[in-house]
Amino acid sequence: MSVETQKETLGFQTEVKQLLHLMIHSLYSNKEIFLRELISNASDAVDKLRFEALSKPELLEGGAELKIRVSFDKDAKTVTLEDNGIGMSREDAITHLGTIAKSGTADFMKHLSGDQKKDSHLIGQFGVGFYSAFIVADKVDVFSRRAGAAASEGVHWSSKGEGDFEVATVEKAERGTRIVLHLKSGEDEFADGWRLRNIIKKYSDHIALPIELPKEVAAAEGEEKPAVEWETVNRASALWTRPRTEIKDEEYQEFYKHVAHDFENPLSWSHNKVEGKLEYSSLLYVPARAPFDLYQREAPKGLKLYVQRVFVMDQAESFLPLYLRFIKGVVDSNDLSLNVSREILQKDPIIDSMKSALTKRVLDMLEKLAKNEPEQYKSFWKNFGQVMKEGPAEDFANKEKIAGLLRFASTQGEEGEQVVALAEYLARAKEGQDKIYYLTGETYAQVKNSPHLEVFRKKGIEVLLLTDRIDEWLMSYLSDFDGKSFVDVARGDLDLGNLDSEEDKKAAEEVAKSKEGLVERLKTALGDSVAEVRVSHRLTDSPAILAIGEQDLGMQMRQILEASGQKVPESKPIFEFNPAHPLIEKLDNEQSDERFGDLSHILFDQAALAAGDSLKDPAAYVRRLNKLLVELSV
Ligand code: ADP
Repeated sequence: MSVETQKETLGFQTEVKQLLHLMIHSLYSNKEIFLRELISNASDAVDKLRFEALSKPELLEGGAELKIRVSFDKDAKTVTLEDNGIGMSREDAITHLGTIAKSGTADFMKHLSGDQKKDSHLIGQFGVGFYSAFIVADKVDVFSRRAGAAASEGVHWSSKGEGDFEVATVEKAERGTRIVLHLKSGEDEFADGWRLRNIIKKYSDHIALPIELPKEVAAAEGEEKPAVEWETVNRASALWTRPRTEIKDEEYQEFYKHVAHDFENPLSWSHNKVEGKLEYSSLLYVPARAPFDLYQREAPKGLKLYVQRVFVMDQAESFLPLYLRFIKGVVDSNDLSLNVSREILQKDPIIDSMKSALTKRVLDMLEKLAKNEPEQYKSFWKNFGQVMKEGPAEDFANKEKIAGLLRFASTQGEEGEQVVALAEYLARAKEGQDKIYYLTGETYAQVKNSPHLEVFRKKGIEVLLLTDRIDEWLMSYLSDFDGKSFVDVARGDLDLGNLDSEEDKKAAEEVAKSKEGLVERLKTALGDSVAEVRVSHRLTDSPAILAIGEQDLGMQMRQILEASGQKVPESKPIFEFNPAHPLIEKLDNEQSDERFGDLSHILFDQAALAAGDSLKDPAAYVRRLNKLLVELSV
């Protein structure tokens, strides 16, 4: 071994220690995937070199035959992976192999419960990568040198996967990375050509560059050891360039794990080749599970971009809208130039038309999934529904298509589950119903019991129950679906259109007329707190309700604005009362103005509470109520 200089010992970042612990305990039944992860990294490193060498051919250092070699030593109990890709400098090794760059990692790790069974599922949300080496090895040596750096600038990184690692500067003649795994006792089955070959075939056949294993050859006469001959064991062609019919599901799945750095199989994929004015291939995947950092602004998103089979960049964001940021995959274009940059991508009209085509592909794929695999779609919605709800605002052109993919909780759906599609809602709508009714609120329990639903319950009309923070905002972008407009049942003067019979309407008018006096008295009593007072025709059980004005902001929007420090325009509710309720009858007959005032304020405050709102003056409410209670008990 060459001389090591500037040797130092450094500690792993806390999160790395946690990840190592989690991984070793989660993956004991699936150890062989370490090879897939390391090969995936090696392949990425080669991709990066190939790309950088386009503008700096000297990086190839005369060795343009890019490949990965896997070898083993039964006696020493080691497995070695070697690539001639981009390599790492000393600093690279310290940061890349000592810390986790993903933002939000520390937060994520806080969610670990310590219960290994539960936590083992989380590893899927995280991805395992390089550290998976420690599933089978109790010591890992990495020798690397960055392409283009001097041979004397190699790095030796070494760790036992506990608290720390060592780095030293070493001489390394060839560029790229060599990883030596010192197998744990009991894991020596991996130091075996047949076993390694099988693992490579199983997980890494799709890797586009040759993966070589030493061939078993007999020693030539007079020699003790045979010369090593290498043999390519994988198919070594880019998966997306092959015809769909020839690719097995397992191959698609393994390729997904490589591009997405995911651990689980995807839910669905769509592989296409476009020819004509534009020429490109795309292979797009819907992951099974949301990554832990889906809502982090800096989280990786976008597709892997290739130009004529050459990898150009990761996380090319210009090919899909933000609300589809969870989609993973590759796009390989024949029209773009190899030196395309992110800035160019943002402006290029070619990209615009690719973006709308790819967006449509994804939406079609999701439609298909919803239709053919409803259970899988349910799980998709649980993971990504909130992000899909950003769609109508961002992607006007596909609004109707996105609306078709939305799923809601409803008064007739499974308890609190977002499973009702708009098409399903309309299919079972009442005869004559030409509106889609919905109610927004803080929690499912609160909206489910809202007095706003009373008339709908009585008439058996389904109402969508929207309780995600984003819902009110979403609904401000959805005016109709399939020609039927959306109606917020807590807003304005509820018009049930054809659902109310002529007699109903006539009767309601008469009641309203007979209560004009009460309306006036209430207006005087409630004064500034209300915008209007009127007789309600949406209540059956509750005495009163507060409706939002047609143009006013709802509670969710007000809270969002407040949280972002913006001034919220003042708006007053409409007080609607149920003329048939005994309390209202009592109120109507009340002679004392003082008692009338107290009772109407109590009804007003109760209506606010039932809507999940907070009271402006809770103490006054309690005082008035107690006053009445005292009178009652006398
Ligand atoms: P990920 O691949 O998800 O980024 P890893 O933990 O697998 O996470 O790897 C961390 C980083 O280490 C990689 O992003 C890469 O920069 C570097 N790395 C790992 N393996 C190699 C390799 N064979 N050659 C060059 N760099 C590598």
